Order: sequence, then C-alpha cells, then structure tokens
Amino acid sequence: MVIIMKPKVSSEAIEHVTRLIEENGLQVHLSHGHEVTIIGVVGDKRKLKGTNFELLDGVDKVVPITESYKLVNKKFHPEDSCISVKNTVIGPETFTVMAGPCAIENHDQLLLCAENVKKAGATFLRGGAFKPRTSPYSFQGLEEEGLKYMEEAGRTTGLATVCEVTSLRALAMAVKYVDMLQIGARNMQNFELLKEAGRSGLPVMLKRGLAATIDEWLNAAEYIISEGNPNIVLCERGIRTYETATRNTLDISAVPVIRTKSHLPVIIDPSHAAGIRSFVEPLSKASAAVGADGLMIEVHPCPSCALSDGPQSLTFEQFKQLMGDLSPYIALAKRNI
Ligand code: PEP
Ligand code: MN
Repeated sequence: MVIIMKPKVSSEAIEHVTRLIEENGLQVHLSHGHEVTIIGVVGDKRKLKGTNFELLDGVDKVVPITESYKLVNKKFHPEDSCISVKNTVIGPETFTVMAGPCAIENHDQLLLCAENVKKAGATFLRGGAFKPRTSPYSFQGLEEEGLKYMEEAGRTTGLATVCEVTSLRALAMAVKYVDMLQIGARNMQNFELLKEAGRSGLPVMLKRGLAATIDEWLNAAEYIISEGNPNIVLCERGIRTYETATRNTLDISAVPVIRTKSHLPVIIDPSHAAGIRSFVEPLSKASAAVGADGLMIEVHPCPSCALSDGPQSLTFEQFKQLMGDLSPYIALAKRNI
C-alpha cells in the first residue's frame, strides 16, 4: 500500500508514519514529489495489525496496491523516473537514441560504428559481446575481447555504452567495461540474472520477453528494483504473434500502457520488432509520436556482411537520414535529443 501525505506536511509527521511502519518490521520507500510525499510500504501488511494510518497526523489517504509489482508501480512513485547513464539522461524530457551493431565483430567495425552514430546524433553505443542465437552454430559473440572494444569506443567518443548480458558470468565480466547492462528478450524471466543485475550497481535496460505480458515484464523489472537498483529502462522490441510479415509485432500500445502502470522510462527497438530495415524509419517515427523515451537501432558499416541481423541493420547513411527525418517528430513530442 501507499500512504499519501497531505500537501506541505511537516517532516515530523512523515517521520512518525515511517517509524510506525519500520517498528512493525516493514520497509519504507519515500517518494518526495513536487506536491506531496508518498510513503510506500513493502512487506506483509498483516504485521501492521490493522493500524489505521488515515487517522494519523498529516496523512491524506491510504491506497492499497493490488498489483504484484510494487516499487516499479506508478502508485508508488507517481512522477516519471529519469535514469542517468554516464553523461546522458533517459526520461520524460529527452529522446535517447541508442545505436550500433547487433554484434561486436571486431575492433574497427565497432569504432567506426561509434564514430558514425555519434556524428548522426546518438548518445549511446549498443553492441552485443554475448549473442543469444537461435542456433548454437551461429556467431556467439567476442565476449571479453568485444567488451574491451566497447570500453575503448565509449572512452574515445564519450558515448554511453550498453551491452547485453546472457548469464551471471557475462554480467560479472560486463560490469568492468560498460555503462549499462541489457537483459534481452530471451532472458526477461531469468530471475537469477535479474537479481544479479539488481545488485550490479549499473543501470539496466530490460527488454520485453518474446511472449511476455506487460504485467510479467513489470514483475521482471520488480526483481531488479527489489535488489536496490531503481535505474531501469524498459525496451519494447516486438512480441510473437501469428503475423509473419514482420519478425515480431511491435506493440506500440505498450508505451501508453506502461505510462499508466509504471514510472520507468520506456524505449522502443524497431529493428528487432520489424526485422526489415525499410520498416525501421516509420516505426521510429511512430515511437516518437506515441511518447517513447527513445529508440534502440541496429546500424552496421556493411549490413550485407553482418554476422547477425544484417537484414534489419541500417547503413551509416540510412541512420543519418533517419535521425534527420525524426527530428520534427522529436520536436513535436517536446523532447530534446
Ligand atoms: C539485441 O538487442 O541484440 C537482441 C538480441 O535483442 P532481443 O533480446 O530483443 O532479441
Ligand atoms: Mn540483433
């Protein structure tokens, strides 16, 4: 449940309520908004033995949270969260573009991508060093060697870096080199990985599972936040449906739905949603228009030579063109890149 305090309440009244909760063995999460302070209560409510908080000094009302996710819930934290990564911010004022190759293939490929996506206006470099491939015989990623190139690319260009981790071993390695961890669609419900990401101290981008409902996705985020890490960005990347014309079906409505349920930022990955490069541009425009907090886009110096996801990857020229075409949409959404 959350306890909503009256506007301009005294700090003594807040302390009194929080002490009462903690003395009963429950956890308190304070959220100081512009108008009101909200006290979130986490734990078994029965321990409060029916205490009537509504009668306490400074309390406006008590709202039960019926959803199984609490800390990522909008009721807990009505203001949209801003997540800082390196020198960038992902949140309601900005439109963050993350771009780069599907997989880090070699030093020059990644550094060239970094330079070009930065020139076109991206603030994040993406690139996989651990690739979750459908076939075990497909390229699996350069692992630590790739992470070292990522670190160099981030350092030399100033871009923030994000890399997928597919296991606890990958996570332990990645935290030494990158600014943000990515948990991919296939691992959205890998609960041990989610908990470890929650303890990693790094911001996490959590992609939606291939066939996950929005509630399952938010519960996955709850695993991360409940370990003490509130720096989570959600990424809609298309879901499995009966449609075969695209690789996945982009659930554009996930953005407004998430807005009503959670305070976490949400970005869109049109590359994996479409699977076809010519659809990346219209879906990117739709993402800006629907109120997403940014995009993740695959870019490659030579898509036809890419070791993975070539058909959905943009050339540098196409990415530059896309960024130019997107700018009026971003301006209309009243955001800054
Ligand atoms: C990726 O971003 O490279 C990736 C594998 O995406 P997803 O987990 O969405 O399939
Ligand atoms: Mn990919």
